[in-house]
Amino acid sequence: MTKRIVSLPGDGIGVEVTEAALRVAQAAGQKAGLSFEIQEFLVGGEAIDAHGTPMEDEVVSACKSADAVILGAVGGPKWDNNPKELRPEIALLRLRKELGLFTNLRPVKVFDALVGASTLKPEVVQGVDILVVRELTGGIYFGEPKFTEQVNGEERAVDTMSYRTSEIERIAKVAFEAARKRRGKVASVDKANILATSQLWRKTVTRVANDFPDVALEHVLVDNCAMQIVREPKQFDVILTENMFGDILSDEASMLTGSLGMLPSASLGDGVAMYEPVHGSAPQIAGQGIANPLAAISSVALMFRFSFGLEAPAQSIERAVDRLLADGLRSADLALNGEMVLGTQEITQAVLDRLD
Ligand code: NAD
Repeated sequence: MTKRIVSLPGDGIGVEVTEAALRVAQAAGQKAGLSFEIQEFLVGGEAIDAHGTPMEDEVVSACKSADAVILGAVGGPKWDNNPKELRPEIALLRLRKELGLFTNLRPVKVFDALVGASTLKPEVVQGVDILVVRELTGGIYFGEPKFTEQVNGEERAVDTMSYRTSEIERIAKVAFEAARKRRGKVASVDKANILATSQLWRKTVTRVANDFPDVALEHVLVDNCAMQIVREPKQFDVILTENMFGDILSDEASMLTGSLGMLPSASLGDGVAMYEPVHGSAPQIAGQGIANPLAAISSVALMFRFSFGLEAPAQSIERAVDRLLADGLRSADLALNGEMVLGTQEITQAVLDRLD
């Protein structure tokens, strides 16, 4: 069987980790009798430089007709001062919106071998296994109006946070269904003591919970959640939250695992899905061959699972990552003092060598 993948490496280390992820995808796919037809496009800063736009329209059409999309990361200091329509992130936001990717799944799992790499105490992080379910196409990142104006000689900027019941319902269902396959607990995160969107969020999630009597629901205020993630992260199974809170909390949760370079993500909707590492383009280390490719590689495991319904290659990749860490192999971001450091290519090879 052949599947069509659109690859969007983007900027900085996005390019390096996507190349690694595709190598692993091809090797794991081959073992499962799957081959890939890969189409690659520029997005983000590189697309601005080459085509004068963060993403050409043909990229969206190619993604819509693909079986899956793999993305690296976009952005970098070179484009930080661009006008807003020429910002690299526009490509990402547009893809999420046009592909209808309203669900972002971010598994945060602490590997036993990396317990020492976290900045938190081993007893706090050992055994952490959280799934962050983040709403991805609503909230303050998309709300209108959004503008900057001059008022009485100074600038004033406005963003709008907005949610509809249907947007909350569909993401809540994803979280409850995921919890059913895990430890049966959902922590819904909001700021219902202050925000109207959060009050609607809480009311709607509570109503959806009635259809899932086997799942335990608790509501947690976002500030308390941020604190609990570093105090006692093991209390969480599924964390359900809106777009911006999810963005921030999942970066915080990533540090439980030792590095942002470990966290994969899947963005799902009703059609094609997109897989990307949680981290950004890390411009400081781009082009040096030292980026940790494991987040991008683990995202490929999620692609096999969610887009192709294939558990065997997904688990094969996840076990390979587990094994190489247990064997003591470390990229620069994970290595503790004195540990030997491997580059992007060597870590990728180590995964390939350990596929079942
Ligand atoms: P970042 O995730 O790029 O980097 C944060 C820190 O983590 C840096 O110290 C970096 O070196 C390190 N890091 C991240 N991924 C790593 C990896 N795979 N291996 C080793 N170390 C890794 O976040 P940032 O520095 O805030 O942002 C840099 C650029 O990336 C900005 O332009 C930002 O807008 C963009 N960004 C893009 C995305 C995306 O495309 N999804 C997400 C976040 C940030």
